[in-house]
Amino acid sequence: MRFDSEYSMTIGGAAVAGTLDLGVINPATGEVFAQAPVCTPAQLDEAVSAARTAYARWRHVPVSERQAMLCRLGDALLDHAEDFARLFTKEQGRPIAGARVEVEAAGNWIKAVSRMEPPVHVLEDSLQRFVETRYVPLGVVCAIAPWNFPLTLAVWKIAPALLAGNTMVLKPSPFTPLCTLKMGELFGEILPAGVLNVICGNDDLGPLMTAHPGFAKIAFTGSTETGKKVMETAARDLKRVTLELGGNDAAIVMPDVDLDQVAQKIFFGAFFNSAQICIATKRLYVHASIYDALRDRLAALAGSTRMGDGSEQGVVLGPVQNKRQYERVLALINDARANGLKLIQGSAPAGEGYFVPVTIVDNPPETSRVVREEAFGPVLPMLKFDSIDEVVARANDCEFGLAGAVWSGDENIALEIARRLETGTVWINQNLQVRADAPFAGHKQSGFGVENGLEGLLEYMVPQVVNVARG
Ligand code: NAD
Repeated sequence: MRFDSEYSMTIGGAAVAGTLDLGVINPATGEVFAQAPVCTPAQLDEAVSAARTAYARWRHVPVSERQAMLCRLGDALLDHAEDFARLFTKEQGRPIAGARVEVEAAGNWIKAVSRMEPPVHVLEDSLQRFVETRYVPLGVVCAIAPWNFPLTLAVWKIAPALLAGNTMVLKPSPFTPLCTLKMGELFGEILPAGVLNVICGNDDLGPLMTAHPGFAKIAFTGSTETGKKVMETAARDLKRVTLELGGNDAAIVMPDVDLDQVAQKIFFGAFFNSAQICIATKRLYVHASIYDALRDRLAALAGSTRMGDGSEQGVVLGPVQNKRQYERVLALINDARANGLKLIQGSAPAGEGYFVPVTIVDNPPETSRVVREEAFGPVLPMLKFDSIDEVVARANDCEFGLAGAVWSGDENIALEIARRLETGTVWINQNLQVRADAPFAGHKQSGFGVENGLEGLLEYMVPQVVNVARG
């Protein structure tokens, strides 16, 4: 398989070209380096129809066979990790080591899901009756992914949906379609035709998909704004939805931490992938007694962490992934500057790439835009607090509730704080850890429904109660 050209959609097991092409930009240079196909409405119909046909058989394939096939998909990704990683860096911008981590994590994730199994609960097995609850698939799933973790977030949908017996039509973000198209081709060599269809197009393909009557469910990861539109459209014919949306995660740093141990972890919890992570630390609350000491350490890291083209050796942070996001992040920084806030900045390459220097905003007011809004780029407000009650209230005063972190030398105090945070995940003395067996659920406007874990698997199924009269 070639990774440097020939990007096709996979529909009904065949490689399909679009009638138009979409230019894919390398964010480190600002230049188009490849063309991806654009799906027509007729091709969308074909993809849904191929998935529908495949569903009739796939849903009856024994779970053990579906598990074995998923395991092969994971292995196939791992076998091609290097090729995927190089292409990933070009289209997404993330430096090669981080790109490799994503490909390998995606491969291992599918393998972990392949070990899961939908449960069957026997409620009664008596002389009078036998009652069981089992779980059956939904049908054809519409999956829509964003550009920040294009492979991982697609795999979070593919693996449980297929394990459950559904088939799928997947659309990557128009900013990062290439690795997903190649993954569709690769998986097409293993799966029966039509089980996984990968199509591609601009943002206007998303609404066509969500309105399509052939889908039973929509699995969406993206912004809260788009997620609301998806839910509105889904309501018309009561499609099931799982929405993984925005976040504005708070991390709370208590005075008893060992700053030399935690500073670097906190820095990368905020800035890994140039801070384009839904679960990155986006508001950093630091106890007043250690605020200056931590700020100085983070400032030193901002100054010494190399930003640049991710294909160059020694580069740790890449560009912002696309122009739209680049302008959004710059607007937030300019707003902070215009309001007289103090910025601590690292350096970034000049040129046409979408580079934004690591920017720490020194104790801005809680009401400033940079605190209230999700930046989704390398700008981090750092805020002082004095008491636990105060910081918990400030952390929770947020429309989002995706994840959060507590840093403390005392696990009990950290646990007490963690349990008071209104978020789907809380980390203690670490960050960004997700697991295939743990439910990932955004509270408040960070999402609707659950991905991952048994709860996430069951979102691709409906319960069926079988009630047998005896005697
Ligand atoms: P986005 O909402 O602009 O786009 C996401 C996807 O939706 C893309 O594939 C896009 O083409 C498609 N789309 C656009 N308009 C649509 C419509 N009207 N109907 C259906 N689909 C449509 O988001 P983005 O800029 O790609 O991603 C960044 C956002 O994603 C951030 O807010 C981030 O927090 C969030 N995110 C959340 C998670 C999570 O798991 N909660 C993970 C990653 C990213």
